[in-house]
Amino acid sequence: MCVFCKGELVPAITDYIEKIGNYVVIIKNVPCEKCEQCGEEYFSTVVAKKIESILNEIQEISTELTVSVIDYEHRAA
Ligand SMILES: [Zn+2]
Repeated sequence: MCVFCKGELVPAITDYIEKIGNYVVIIKNVPCEKCEQCGEEYFSTVVAKKIESILNEIQEISTELTVSVIDYEHRAA
């Protein structure tokens, strides 16, 4: 249930966008649950952890890049 509007959550796929310092990381096709009413997106613990590990990895390899686009589905867990 949505914490903002108490709306119904339905499974969905979204793009996760995070701005870190000078660059932007876009992770595409991230599974989430989306509120039918207000559109708020919720990530499961597993997905949140995976996003975190992707972001950590990106920070280690990216020094010059300004934008990284990663497909969630093409990453090993
Ligand atoms: Zn809502």
